[in-house]
Amino acid sequence: MQSDVSQYRFRDLVDIPAFTRMLESFYRATGIPNGVVEANGDLISLAAGVNACTQFHRAHPGSEAQCRNSNISIMRDLRSGNIAGGQCLNGLMDYATPVVIEGRQLATLFLGQVLHEQPDMEYFRAQAEKFGFDEEEYLAAIAAIPVVDKTRLQTLMEVMVEIAQMLAASGLARLRQVELEQDISSITERRIQLEDILDSSPVAIGWSDAHGKIEYLNRQFARQFGYQASDLPDLSTWYQLAYPDPHYRETVIMPWVHEVALAHQTGTLPPELESDVTCKNGSIRRVVVRVSWVGQRRLVNFTDITERWVAEQRYKAHDAMLEMVARGVMLGHILNSIVLQVEQEDRTARGSILLLDAEGKRLQTGAAPNLPDFYNQAIHGIEIGLGVGSCGTAAHLGERVVVADIETHEYWRPYTGLARQAGLRACWSEPILSSQGKVLGTFAIYHDEPRSPLEHDIERISFAANLAAIAIENRHAHEELERRAYTDYLTGLNNRRRFIEIAENELARAVRFDKALSLLMLDIDHFKQVNDTYGHKTGDLVLQKLSEICRGTLRTIDIIGRLGGEEFAILLPETNDIQALDAAERLRAALAAAQVPLGNGEELRFTASFGIATLNQQDSDIDTLLNLADHALYEAKSKGRNRVACIR
Ligand code: GH3
Ligand code: MG
Ligand code: MG
Repeated sequence: MQSDVSQYRFRDLVDIPAFTRMLESFYRATGIPNGVVEANGDLISLAAGVNACTQFHRAHPGSEAQCRNSNISIMRDLRSGNIAGGQCLNGLMDYATPVVIEGRQLATLFLGQVLHEQPDMEYFRAQAEKFGFDEEEYLAAIAAIPVVDKTRLQTLMEVMVEIAQMLAASGLARLRQVELEQDISSITERRIQLEDILDSSPVAIGWSDAHGKIEYLNRQFARQFGYQASDLPDLSTWYQLAYPDPHYRETVIMPWVHEVALAHQTGTLPPELESDVTCKNGSIRRVVVRVSWVGQRRLVNFTDITERWVAEQRYKAHDAMLEMVARGVMLGHILNSIVLQVEQEDRTARGSILLLDAEGKRLQTGAAPNLPDFYNQAIHGIEIGLGVGSCGTAAHLGERVVVADIETHEYWRPYTGLARQAGLRACWSEPILSSQGKVLGTFAIYHDEPRSPLEHDIERISFAANLAAIAIENRHAHEELERRAYTDYLTGLNNRRRFIEIAENELARAVRFDKALSLLMLDIDHFKQVNDTYGHKTGDLVLQKLSEICRGTLRTIDIIGRLGGEEFAILLPETNDIQALDAAERLRAALAAAQVPLGNGEELRFTASFGIATLNQQDSDIDTLLNLADHALYEAKSKGRNRVACIR
């Protein structure tokens, strides 16, 4: 915004010494005394020399009063017009003109005293006598007063005022220019401060303009995904790189982009997207993408939930593996699925499981679905020992062996050609150990470029090696394993499969004996927020707390199952709708009152929403009942959560 002229004084705008020099030159050239006064009355410059005024009129109280009255009247005239002037009460001519910039008077230019005609010496002689001036000196002073024609004086006045105004205006323009520059630099500064703040954010943030040109990416963005601003000129490049699979892009990303654009138009909340982003180094991060608008700019943030997502996937893989073991699925198939699970977590990795033979001497192919056949065949039957690649050495030592670069590592010396042919450059191998610590085989991760493992890589290999150990050790299914296959790993409750099995039996019984039966379905409210705020481990504690409270609050004949994620089902035998409502209310209140310690002395509270379905003659299968309960649950959620709903 442009500053208002009223905030300046004349002296702020004009180089006063230079201006004074100019007025003095004017005085010397014309003999016309002059002065400039600020709007507030401060004298800025005066070029007058010794004259009748200063020497005589102002020096005598009587004539001084006439001077003052003349000044007052001239000022009054000044306010109403441009040039004001006239004969002063002492008989001389005085002129004043306002110096006006943008309609505002900044100063006043005075010219005078002058005479328009030769002086009437009789009048001045009388004046000398009246006030007691030295007649000779006074008349000499009067004679020295320049005689200037009125029109000429007014012209001179106009010229001087114009010069003063021009100088002030150019001073004002210069000041405004400086202010503008300061504004720009403070805007730049503010922008820098904003970017500093965004750069220290633990969340990846970026924004693009109305045309999809990416204008800013914060530091966490580069840290998280590896892309720099120069890699991503616009959104379409980002979509191509982050989501390289065209099918995924077309079926998941683009429809979401469309919905987001629609939300912008209609002013509604844009939907969040949970997606797998391919990083610059080829690794995958699981993120929640949220979009908002600031004017025409599209601001996006990416919450990294990889850790939580990986943990969930691992629970699932773990449960699935146990189930496969319990069902007697072939070991090779189970090991394959373990390798695939690991490869899904890191898509730049290729996994391999080798099994140690009964003599504990040779390694045999267990599962390596994505390594070339010729390679698997060459390794099959290899004798373990120090310097037999990563796996042969790991099996021999019973310790993890990390080879970051196959080309240069001594353990790989005999096999570099083979590895090169298979496009393998790094290999980290973890021994698979039995519960007694005996080596059962190795789990290895390969990369096609030199690479050292990070902490999460190590975690991943040990997870896979553990899983493989359970699968290998329990090749012949037994009871304990069966129990494990039927219970949820985290909560110890029935897993989905087991719950449905039991529920089907109970339902059949209830129908046969015409007994009441109800089903509760419950889902933790805003559980994602719990994970996002406190981390996945705290989320797990909440799930465990919920299970504990369910077991403590319900009867022993009630059957509780974890259907998946944070969704649970409870079968209430011999319970009608009213009793079910009562049980659900009790449970809801118990959950709402529960506290989960956060470890820092604080406690976390949570709530859940409930849906109830009760058996009647028509709905005699479990799917129908689950569906009804799910509908009711949806209603409880939409009515505000932490409540029970039933569909009648
Ligand atoms: P709403 O009130 O509508 O149910 O909101 P919500 O956030 O609870 O629902 P949403 O279905 O969006 O989120 C469920 C979250 O539960 C997302 C998922 O990551 C998390 N989750 C699922 N399984 C597990 C688990 O085993 N452990 C942890 N910590 N979180 C899990
Ligand atoms: Mg929920
Ligand atoms: Mg849910």
